[in-house]
Amino acid sequence: MVETRYDAVVIGAGFAGLSATALLAQQGRRVLLVEKSARLGGRAAYIERDGFVWQYGQHSHRLAGNGIAARVFDTLGEPIDFIDTRGNTAYLYLDGRIHPRPEGIAGFLGTSLLPFTARLDFLRFYRRLLKADPNAWYDRTLLDFYRERGGNAYVERFLGFVGFTVMVTDPARVSAGEVIQFLQRAVKAPVKQGEPRGGSKQIIVKLETAVRRYGGHIHAPERVEEILVERGTAVGVRTDHACYHAEKVVFAAPLPGLFKIVPSSLFQPSFVEYVTRIRPSRGVSIDFVFDKPVTDITGGILGVDIPLWVKFQSHIDATVAPPGKCVNTWAMLMDPEVPATAEQADVAEARIKGLMDELLPGSTGKIIRQRRLILPVVNANMLVTEQSYPHRPPIVCPEVNHLFFIGDTVQSEGCSGDIAFSSALRLAKLL
Ligand SMILES: Cc1cc2nc3c(=O)[nH]c(=O)nc-3n(C[C@H](O)[C@H](O)[C@H](O)COP(=O)(O)OP(=O)(O)OC[C@H]3O[C@@H](n4cnc5c(N)ncnc54)[C@H](O)[C@@H]3O)c2cc1C
Repeated sequence: MVETRYDAVVIGAGFAGLSATALLAQQGRRVLLVEKSARLGGRAAYIERDGFVWQYGQHSHRLAGNGIAARVFDTLGEPIDFIDTRGNTAYLYLDGRIHPRPEGIAGFLGTSLLPFTARLDFLRFYRRLLKADPNAWYDRTLLDFYRERGGNAYVERFLGFVGFTVMVTDPARVSAGEVIQFLQRAVKAPVKQGEPRGGSKQIIVKLETAVRRYGGHIHAPERVEEILVERGTAVGVRTDHACYHAEKVVFAAPLPGLFKIVPSSLFQPSFVEYVTRIRPSRGVSIDFVFDKPVTDITGGILGVDIPLWVKFQSHIDATVAPPGKCVNTWAMLMDPEVPATAEQADVAEARIKGLMDELLPGSTGKIIRQRRLILPVVNANMLVTEQSYPHRPPIVCPEVNHLFFIGDTVQSEGCSGDIAFSSALRLAKLL
């Protein structure tokens, strides 16, 4: 077996592991990143085939240049190249129709989505969210927050949409604190959603390039089979190829996978119980290919009371499809309480196609190819009250010295991929 010594070994090359490896290598650390798959990127990996860039679903970066992902790339000296989407109109789907998505106070005052008195009530609620202290609300739901000052059936229909901003559409489960902290950052940002040119390919290629430029090492495919722990201190990893000794070991994958490579007996029972109970969100995502555009919408569609999101990918970025072809991605969250099976995905697909034909009549008949992805894990940590910021495990493992956790299941700011990026930034400051 090969024996090599590093300052840090990072397990998993998703957003978190790639970012942390690049940031640590930039600081001059000798870092090794080990990824079990031949493809880098984890849940944001992509493949290029037949002239298409097929992404694993569709990835945007909240708040574009003002967001957390952008902070990583700015630190690495390789800013993300975002597409200028100003002028693209986004839509909301409600009651069988799409409506222009209201933006800001003026947008909500003028929207036809709500009766006038409900608009005023919604704006009062929105202002309260912007002024609230997230720390006081992590353990309570958005529905609790809204009902504290009365209720309005029209506005309550919208609460699922407000929760959708952090990818939990059940207002009786989503943590109000998570929604508050996101909206308070979002309100200050001029662009709410950043679309990287070339999709997640740009992100993964830039991170891999940064790792190599700063002298980091990547081994893929190579699976970590064991985190080596001696007298309560992590000292390296054993993989299916070799043993690597390291000063620090960083687990950069969803925490429920941790006990496959290190005994749970090393940790406090409360941590083990929390980790084994972590709930992800689930979904289905379908890329539909057409010979011609079936709509001129560029800004996407979001469901108000159904967890639907639609991206007309090649309309905003022609580089993801070969000339003469269009790709639209339709995705839907599935019930998080039941496993993501093919039968569940069939139901979601039928619903998606029904909606497609309702909104863009005749479009399903023009599909020339489709790729369906069943997504057992979209966000590895749903931002429900019991998995909100204060409850997530810290980056520094309290029980095993020199062991660290990053990725979208740990205690770091943001939601979805932003948790992964912010945890990598925090780790790089800590080490
Ligand atoms: C379809 C879809 C759409 C999404 N859209 C968005 C979006 O628009 N915006 C957003 O912010 N977020 C989005 N997300 C969420 C985002 O993709 C994730 O939050 C993010 O990718 C998580 O990154 P990570 O590094 O924490 O984990 P992962 O991407 O899961 O990476 C973990 C890596 O660890 C590797 N690994 C695990 N065990 C081992 C082992 N023993 N040895 C070696 N390697 C190992 C895995 O193979 C994997 O590559 C989306 C997710 C999906 C699925």
